[in-house]
Amino acid sequence: MPYTYAFDHKHRRPPMELKDLLGGKGANLAEMTSVLGLPVPPGFTISTDACRAYLEGGWPEGLDAEIARQVRKLEKAMGKRLGDAADPLLVSVRSGAKFSMPGMMDTVLNLGLNDESVKGLADQTSDERFAYDSYRRFISMYGRIVLGLDGKLFDAPFEEAKQRSGVESDAEVGADVLRELAESYKRVVADSTGQPFPQDPADQLRGAIEAVFGSWNGARAVAYRVRERIPHDLGTAVNVQAMVFGNRDDNSGTGVGFTRDPASGAQGEYGDFLVNAQGEDVVAGIRNTLPLSALRDRFPAIFKELMGIFARLEEHYRDMCDTEFTIEQGKLWMLQTRVGKRTGRAALRMAVDMTKQRGWKITREEAVGRVAADHLDQVLHPQFAEKPAQLLTKGLAASPGAAVGKAYFSADDAAAAAEQGEAVILVTSETSPEDVHGMIASQGILTSRGGLVSHAAVVARGWGKPAVVGAEAVRISGRSFTVGGTTVHEGDVISLDGGSGEVALGEVRLTLADPPEEFTTILKWADQIRKGRLAVRANADNGPDAANARQFGAEGIGLCRTEHMFLADDRLPIVRRMILADTPAEEEAALEELRVAQKADFVAILEAMDNLPVTVRLLDPPLHEFLPSTEELELKKATKGLTKQEERLLAAAQSWHEFNPMLGTRGVRLGVIKPGLYAMQVRALMQAAVERLEAGGKPRVEVMIPLTVTRQELGLARGWVADTVAEVVGDLPKRVANKLDVLIGTMVETPRAAVRADEIAEEADFFSFGTNDLTQMTFGFSRDDVEGRMMSAYLEQGLLKRNPFETIDQGGVGQLVADAVEGGRATRPGLKLGVCGEHGGDPESIDFFYRVGLDYVSCSPYRVPIARLAAAQAVI
Ligand code: ADP
Ligand code: MG
Ligand code: MG
Repeated sequence: MPYTYAFDHKHRRPPMELKDLLGGKGANLAEMTSVLGLPVPPGFTISTDACRAYLEGGWPEGLDAEIARQVRKLEKAMGKRLGDAADPLLVSVRSGAKFSMPGMMDTVLNLGLNDESVKGLADQTSDERFAYDSYRRFISMYGRIVLGLDGKLFDAPFEEAKQRSGVESDAEVGADVLRELAESYKRVVADSTGQPFPQDPADQLRGAIEAVFGSWNGARAVAYRVRERIPHDLGTAVNVQAMVFGNRDDNSGTGVGFTRDPASGAQGEYGDFLVNAQGEDVVAGIRNTLPLSALRDRFPAIFKELMGIFARLEEHYRDMCDTEFTIEQGKLWMLQTRVGKRTGRAALRMAVDMTKQRGWKITREEAVGRVAADHLDQVLHPQFAEKPAQLLTKGLAASPGAAVGKAYFSADDAAAAAEQGEAVILVTSETSPEDVHGMIASQGILTSRGGLVSHAAVVARGWGKPAVVGAEAVRISGRSFTVGGTTVHEGDVISLDGGSGEVALGEVRLTLADPPEEFTTILKWADQIRKGRLAVRANADNGPDAANARQFGAEGIGLCRTEHMFLADDRLPIVRRMILADTPAEEEAALEELRVAQKADFVAILEAMDNLPVTVRLLDPPLHEFLPSTEELELKKATKGLTKQEERLLAAAQSWHEFNPMLGTRGVRLGVIKPGLYAMQVRALMQAAVERLEAGGKPRVEVMIPLTVTRQELGLARGWVADTVAEVVGDLPKRVANKLDVLIGTMVETPRAAVRADEIAEEADFFSFGTNDLTQMTFGFSRDDVEGRMMSAYLEQGLLKRNPFETIDQGGVGQLVADAVEGGRATRPGLKLGVCGEHGGDPESIDFFYRVGLDYVSCSPYRVPIARLAAAQAVI
C-alpha cells in the first residue's frame, strides 16, 4: 500500500469512504477533485498509515521517495518548482484526521519560500512587499508551529520595526523593512534552535509533516479525544497542496460559506468573506468581514459559480456542507468542504426540510439518523448564549442545561434562600440523599468532587437539572469557595453550563429551551420506526415524575425505586421505628404505617401510567442508609450526650454497620431477613392496583426483586410476592380479579445471575438488567470511587476505550447480558427483557441492547426523547 495519494488518484472506492485512510479533509479534497470535478488546487495526501507507522517506529522507509515523486508531479501540474528562484511553487501543509480535531497542528502556509524563491515570488507578482511579507510570515509561522518557538520572539522585532519606520499598521510596513525582518526572524530561529532556518524546501516539508504527525499525541489533542470518545489509534493524515493567493490584489479574496444557515437551519447560503486576504484572516476576526451575499455585487460571476457549486455539493452529499474558498485574481478555488456542523435547532430543521427537497431528498429514516443526542439536548435545555466573561473553571458536564443563581453552600441554606424567591446554585463538595431538598430548590448544582455517576450527577440528570460535578479547582471552605485567585462568597452570582462543564462568575446570558416544531416531527417518525421493536420506559419514583415521563413519551416505568418513598421527611421516622422494633407487634405496627403511605404513592404512579407497565422494585439499599451515621451520633454522645431514642439509633446503626454495604445485606437478602417488609410493599402495591381498577383504570404491575443471585432465593421471594398478591386479590370478585395484570420478575445485576439466567428464568416472568451494579461487580470497580482520577487516567492511556459506567462494555458486561438473554429465553421463550441502568439512556448502549434482543430500555424522564431517537436509530 502506498503512503501517499494525489487528490486526483483513482481510488477503487469513492474517497469519502476512505476517511480512515485519507482523513476527513483529504477525503473531501479528493472527492471534490476526482468525483465532482470542482476547481481545487492540486495536491496530495499522506495517509494515516504513514502517521501510525511514524508514531510506532519513526520516519517510515520509502516515504521520502514517495513524497519526492508526488512533489515532482505537483510541480509538473503547476508548471512551477518548489524553491525556484524565478517562479516558485508554494504549498500549504494541512493536518486532517478522520474527525476534525482542535488541538492538532495548525496549517503552515507559503511553504517553499527561502532566500532565493522569495525573489522569484517578488518578480512574478511584481510585488516585492507581498513577497517579503509572505516570507517573514512563513518563517514565524514555521518557527511557531513546526519548531515550537514562542510567538513573542517574532512579535517583538516586528513591533520594533514598526516603531523604527514610524508606522502604525502592519500594512504600512515597507518592503525593505520586511526584508530586514525576514533576516532577523531567521536569526531568532538560529539562536533559539541552534540550527539555521531550513532553506531547502524538502527539509521544510519534512519538518512540517513530522510536526503534524507529532501533534496527534499533543496534550490538547489527547484531551479532546478523551472527551469526544475518539480512539487514540487512528492517527492523522497530512495534506500538501499548491497555494493560491487570496491576498494577491483587490480582485482576490477568501471566505467561508455554508450551503444553509448552520445556526437556524434556514435555506440559502450563509457565510463571510474578505477581499484581498489570506488564510485564517476570515476566522481570526482581525478585519471586518463581509457577508457572503455581498459577493453577488462585488464578484457577480464568482458568486454565480459558487452558488452552482453549493447546489452540487448539497445534492452530492445530500446534506448541508461548509466550505472554504479563495479567489485569486478573479478565479475561484475550493479549499475545503465537509458536511457541516450545526446547532440542535438547525439539525432538526434541516433533517425535516431535506425530506421535502426538490431534485433530491432524504428518507424519513435518514432524517431521523441525522439528529444526534446532543442536538436534542441542546433544544431541550438552555445553554450559555455567549462566551462567559469570567470563566472560573471547567468541571465534568454531568447534567445538561445552564443556570444562573446565587451561590449557597449547604442544602438548608439553598432551600431557605430559594424560599425567599432567590435563584440559587448549590455549591458543595458532594451530595447525599440528605441534600435532596436543597438540590430541588436550586437552579443548578456544582460539586467539587465526584464523577459522572455520583449522587449529584445521577439525581440532577433524573430531574433535568443542570449540574457540573468534580470541579476539582473549586476549593470550598465554609460559606465561600476559591478558584485560582478568585473568591466567591455566599450570595455571589455564578453561572454554570452542565452541557459543557463551564462555571463562570456573574450572570451569563442563556439561550431558551424551547424545542422547535421539527422536534415533534422527528420524534414522531422515530416512534413509527421503532414501533414494536424497542420500547422506551422511564425511571420514576412518584406520580409527578411519572406524569412528566409520560409527557416525554415514556411507554411505562422500567424502574420505580421504592426506597425513595422511604427517605421522605415524614417517612424516615416510621422506617426507623420499623428497624428499631423490639417485638413483632411493634414491627408490624410500623410496617402498617408504611403500607398506608406507600399505597398512596403507588396509586399516583399507576394513575399517571395508566394502561402502561410499571415495574416496582422492592426495597434494595442496605438498611443503614435509613439510619443516622454512627460517627455523628458517637460525636454527639461524647459531647452533648444522647437521648434515649438516639441511644437506640446508635445501637441499631452499629449493629447494621457493614464493611462493604454495597455487597452486603441489601436487595433480596434484606427480604430474607425481614420478609414482612416485602410483603408489606406488595400489599400496598396490589391494594393501589385494586383501587385503580375500581376507579376504572387499567393498572399493569410488574413486581421486581433486586439483587438476585440464585434460583432458590428468587423462588423464595417469588413465593412471598405471589402469596401476598393472592391474599389481596382473593377477596375480589372473579370479574375484577381477572382484569389484574401482574408479572413477577427480577433484576439481573450480579454476574452469577447472568451466568445462571437459564435457571433463574424458571422463577421470573421478566428480567431487567441492572447494568450499573452489573458493571460494578463485573469490573470490580466501585462506581463511586473510580470515577475521578483513576477513570481519567485509564481513558487517557487508552486502557479503557470508554467509561463503562456511561457506555456499556460490550465485550465484558455486555457479553453477560447477551448470555443471560439467551439463557433466559431458552427456559422461557416469552421472557420479557429490559434494562434500567444509566446505560438505558446512552445511545451507543441502546444500540447494543437492541442487537442482543431486549424489549425495552428505561432511563430518566428527561432522557426519554433521546432514548426514543436512539432506539429508532438502532432499529434502522
Ligand atoms: P483548519 O482545519 O484549521 O481549517 P486548514 O487546513 O483548512 O485548517 O487551513 C486553514 C486555512 O488556510 C484555510 O481556510 C485556507 O484559507 C488556508 N489555506 C490552506 N491551504 C491553502 C492553499 N493551498 N492555498 C491558499 N490558502 C490555503
Ligand atoms: Mg479549514
Ligand atoms: Mg442495583
